[in-house]
Amino acid sequence: IMDITAILGRLAIQSENPGWSTGVTHGSTDTGTAITSISPVDGRPIAAVREAAAVDYDRVVAKAEEAFPVWRELPAPLRGEIVRQFGEALRRHKQDLGTLVSYEMGKSLQEGLGEVQEMIDICDFATGLSRQLYGLTMQSERPGHRMYEQWHPLGVVGIISAFNFPVAVWSWNAAIAWVCGNVCVWKPSEKTPLTATACQAIIADVLAANELPEGISCLVQGGRALGERLAGDNRIALVSATGSTRMGKSVAATVAARLGKSILELGGNNAIIITEHADLDIALPAAVFGAVGTAGQRCTSTRRLIIHESVYEAFKERLVKAYKQLRIGNPLDERNHVGPLIDRDAVTGYLAAIEQCEREGGQFIVEGGVLEGADYGSGCYVYPCIAEVSPDMTIVKTETFAPILYLMKYGTLDEAIRIQNEVPQGLSSAIMTLNLREAERFLSASGSDCGIANVNIGTSGAEIGGAFGGEKETGGGRESGSDAWKAYMRRQTNTINYSTKLPLAQGIRFDL
Ligand code: NAD
Repeated sequence: IMDITAILGRLAIQSENPGWSTGVTHGSTDTGTAITSISPVDGRPIAAVREAAAVDYDRVVAKAEEAFPVWRELPAPLRGEIVRQFGEALRRHKQDLGTLVSYEMGKSLQEGLGEVQEMIDICDFATGLSRQLYGLTMQSERPGHRMYEQWHPLGVVGIISAFNFPVAVWSWNAAIAWVCGNVCVWKPSEKTPLTATACQAIIADVLAANELPEGISCLVQGGRALGERLAGDNRIALVSATGSTRMGKSVAATVAARLGKSILELGGNNAIIITEHADLDIALPAAVFGAVGTAGQRCTSTRRLIIHESVYEAFKERLVKAYKQLRIGNPLDERNHVGPLIDRDAVTGYLAAIEQCEREGGQFIVEGGVLEGADYGSGCYVYPCIAEVSPDMTIVKTETFAPILYLMKYGTLDEAIRIQNEVPQGLSSAIMTLNLREAERFLSASGSDCGIANVNIGTSGAEIGGAFGGEKETGGGRESGSDAWKAYMRRQTNTINYSTKLPLAQGIRFDL
C-alpha cells in the first residue's frame, strides 16, 4: 500500500540509523536509551529515536529560554506569518505525514490525513488570531486616568501529548502558543515518537528559512519520567497536558505545588441521548462512527447510548445490523472501517473491561474478541462490541480506551440527563432530537454538564473554531479556538494618569 522508507526519508527520518533522531533538538546525545516505534498495523518496528536524558532535557529547555526573548520581540502578526508558513509546509507534507500518523498510530488513512488538515486549520486560525489578541479598555473612576488591559506571553510552554492524536493536539497548543509569543517544548507520547520527529523537522525548516532560532519549537522524546520532569520544572511557565485522568492528577499536583499554570485535557466518557423524537437515520451513523471510529480511541469517542424506551428495541436492532457490516483490518486500506488498538496493553485493557462488564451483569449483544490470522499479526485488532448495561455499574463510569459501547434505557428526559451526568468525566455529550424543548433543556444550565454539548451530531469530531475541553475529571482546560488563547498569556492591567493630580481609588484622601 505504501513505501514507508520513502515516506520517512521525505519527512527527514532515517530509519536505517536509529541514532539519528536523537529526540533532542539541539546537539545530539548518546546518553538516552532508544525508543523503538512499533506499528500496531503490522507489528513491525518502524524506526527508533533516542530518549532525552536529564542533561539533554536541560540543554533543550535552555535553548528554548534563549529563543524566548527573540521571539517575544517579534510583533504578533509577524509571528503569525511564521505560523502561516508552517501551515503551508504542512500542506506540502500532508500526504506523507497523514500516512505516517496512520501507520504509527493505527487510525484510518482518512483520519490520519484529517489530523494533518486539523493542523493546517489551526495554523490558519492562529495566523488570523495574531492580529486579534485583544485586550479591553475600562472606564476609570478617577479623572484624567485611562485604564486598559493587555496580554503578554508567558515564556516556555510545555506540551505533553497522548498517542491518539499524535500531531493535532500538539499543533493546537503550539500554533496558539507561538502567536501569543511563547516558545514550546513538546514531549509527545512515547508510543508515537516518529510523527513528532517529522513535525519537528518541518517546523525547524520553516524557522531556519526565516533565520529564527529553532529553540522556538523544541522536542524531547521520552516517557512518563520525562513528563514528570517537565511538570516539575520551574522554567516551564505553562504545562498543557493531554492524556489520561491518572496522568492529569499527577501533573496538576506537581505544577500546582510550584504555582505554575496548567491546561489539562483528560479522559472522557461520552454519551448520546437518543430521544423518542430522534431522527434515527442520523442517530445511527453518529453512534456507530462515534463508537468505532479510531477503534474507540478518541477522547470524544461515544461510549454510552442512553435511549428512550419507546425506540430502544428498534434502534438496538439497527445498531447490531450496522456492526455486522463493519470491516476490521489494515487502516491504510480505505475499505476498512476499524483499525487496530495502539498496542497489546490496550488489548489487555479491552479484554479486562469486557470481563468486568460481564461480571457486573452486562449482557453483550455484539460480542468482543481479538482477531486472529495473518492480516492481524500485530495482535492489536479487536471486534467492536456492544453491551446492555445498567448506568450504575462501575465499568460504565470508567473510560476504557477501546470500542466498547454501553446501551441504557430511559423513561423521562430528566432521567436521561441524570444518567448522562452521573459519571466522573465531563468532556463531550450529544442529544438526538427534533424536539426544540428537549434540545434546549439539554443545553441549559440543568442539562449536560460537559464542555461540549451537541444536538443532532455525535460526540466525536470537534472543529478547531470552538474552545475544546471538558469538566470534572476531564480537567477543565480549554484549547484551540474561541478565546482559549488567553490561557497562553498573562494579563496585565494598566492605569495611566494624564492629569496633574494624584487622586486615589475609592476616594481615599492622603494629604501631605
Ligand atoms: P497517558 O496518560 O498514558 O499518556 C499521555 C502523555 O502523558 C504521554 O506523553 C505520557 O508519556 C505522559 N505521562 C504519563 N504519565 C505522566 C505523568 N505522571 N507525568 C507527566 N507525564 C505523564 O494517555 P494515552 O494513553 O497516551 O492517551 C489516552 C488518554 O488521553 C485517554 O484518557 C484520552 O481520553 C485522553 N485524551 C484526552 C484528550 C482531551 O483533549 N481531553 C485528547 C486526547 C486524549
